[in-house]
Amino acid sequence: MNLLDRAVKKVYYRKQIPLFRLVEKMKLWPSRRGILHGVIACEEKGSYVRVMTHCDREMFMRASKNGRASRWLRNKWFFKVCEECRIPEWKLQKYSSTLFKRRWGSFLINQEEPRKP
Ligand SMILES: [Zn+2]
Repeated sequence: MNLLDRAVKKVYYRKQIPLFRLVEKMKLWPSRRGILHGVIACEEKGSYVRVMTHCDREMFMRASKNGRASRWLRNKWFFKVCEECRIPEWKLQKYSSTLFKRRWGSFLINQEEPRKP
């Protein structure tokens, strides 16, 4: 990494990143109503991802790479930030500088998943 890269501080993740890895790393969750929550914990339960937020909500979402939550996280779609969760400003700034690329960036896993036909 050169100096220029470091100055920009952009973070790149793969577009096809599994939802669980994404939430585990970002600690953010866009609800169905478009409210961005802060995440305390998340776990994988079979084909579902269970998310617990700072405002004491618990949500389940299908662990799909192209589901609503994944899409919203990647596109940074939300109407407002949850007031109860008190997401710190630096976290929101980090979120806004995170980019998703199809062919470049981290999957946040050591071994890449085999491609499905
Ligand atoms: Zn919240």
